[in-house]
Amino acid sequence: MPTPSHKSDLTLDPANWDEFRAIAHRMVDDALDHMSTLSERAPWTPLPPAVRQALTTEPVPHRPQGIERVYAEFAERVLPYTNGNRHPRFFGWIQGNGTPLGMMADMLAAGMNAHLAGLDQAPKLVEMQVIAWLAELMGFPKDSSGLLVSGGSMANILALAVARHATCGFDVREDGLHNRPRLTVYTSSEIHSWAQKAVELFGMGNASLRRVPVNDDLRVNVDAMRTMIAADRAAGMRPICVIGSAGTVNSGAIDDLNALADLAASEKLWFHVDGAFGALAALSPALKPRVAGMERADSVAFDLHKWGYLPYEIACFLVRDAEAHRSTFAVTPTYLRDEGRGVIAGGLPFADRGPELTRGFKALKVWMTFKAEGVARIADVIEQNVAQAVAFADRLARIPHIVVVAPVSLNVVCWRAVPPNASDSEADSFNKELLLRIQEAGVAVPSGSQLGGRYIIRVACSNHRSTWADFETLLAGVGRITGEMLSERSA
Ligand SMILES: *Cc1c(COP(=O)(O)O)cnc(C)c1O
Repeated sequence: MPTPSHKSDLTLDPANWDEFRAIAHRMVDDALDHMSTLSERAPWTPLPPAVRQALTTEPVPHRPQGIERVYAEFAERVLPYTNGNRHPRFFGWIQGNGTPLGMMADMLAAGMNAHLAGLDQAPKLVEMQVIAWLAELMGFPKDSSGLLVSGGSMANILALAVARHATCGFDVREDGLHNRPRLTVYTSSEIHSWAQKAVELFGMGNASLRRVPVNDDLRVNVDAMRTMIAADRAAGMRPICVIGSAGTVNSGAIDDLNALADLAASEKLWFHVDGAFGALAALSPALKPRVAGMERADSVAFDLHKWGYLPYEIACFLVRDAEAHRSTFAVTPTYLRDEGRGVIAGGLPFADRGPELTRGFKALKVWMTFKAEGVARIADVIEQNVAQAVAFADRLARIPHIVVVAPVSLNVVCWRAVPPNASDSEADSFNKELLLRIQEAGVAVPSGSQLGGRYIIRVACSNHRSTWADFETLLAGVGRITGEMLSERSA
């Protein structure tokens, strides 16, 4: 027997499990300590230059530094300097807050390191069960197909790939788009940026994304969409899909999903709903009517890391026609053939539903959270966020020189300050400065956007940690800082 010329007993498991266990327990304790005391700190702290420098200039660490030292550096330089999205006064964009249970579930999933292409194992069944629950909650048939993915962008993009495969009228997988009419997709001008990325990625081009104007309520103008579809058909294009928004990213507006479902049916187009956060309203019986028509979609995409409150990354898309979903992505190489027995029995259903082969155990945090908390409790928090948005908008509108500029369709409040005798561009600059001061003073983190060509400030209520006192703090901060800026202006 030749002797191996190298050591053959190297492993990355700890040499001393007891020592490792001690620091691991400390990590869990510290993480929970930090999470349970968030409200004692500012939502966001600007990065100190020394930290920025240290984190961006380190050479490749070829030699070991040891767990203790790395963990200490994490605690000092990384942990304190996030954008603040877990904090109770974080209202920027629509970000997620995460939960302690979700954190632990992710840790358990990482520890299992299960391979979720499929295979005959319990985690696959958990993943299947979660997709079936989500289908039921969204009003989709029990036998719908679905996939858990990293985020809403990915979920929407993959759903649109299914839409194209199912409705383009030729074998796009085999032949691509060569010598074919332009395929077109119809949606609101308020659509999220994923849609442009999708049509560009698919080789259809940005011009294939037909952005239809919105009405005053920021919902898509369905008549204008119908007219655009007819004009495009007459010009030789091939419409394939209508996309509705259940909660636009800017204002939370919910398109008339029933009208879009009717239009898609009469035009024989795929109907997809981007419900990134808004679809979660369906968890609440009281709010479900607001997303009526979503259950008629061919596909729907939504995040669980936004209004489902779970830690990043987790989203889902559902497809009513399971075969359309499978046939968009399925490829079975010989080394992955289902033998009907053994580990590979049942094949690789999740690999057949998207472009990724190796996937982690995404479902565990959904499964544990839904079971431990009950979906009704999550729905209660969602309802609380909607009530907070309504009450906040009401109070905000009573602050002098502040106006609410869009209907509060769900959980987003769009507003701005209107300084007296200011031009549009002066007012825009005023609001940008107001937003930055609110953030930099550590009051809260709202975000900015454009609505109807004007700069606006947004407060998104998708935070399970926000109590009414947090909104009071923000209201007081808005009043105080607006007042200060107005007096600076008149000085
Ligand atoms: C956030 C959002 C997305 C994208 O989801 P990610 O999880 O950020 O990828 C898509 N559509 C809408 C309406 C969103 O709010």
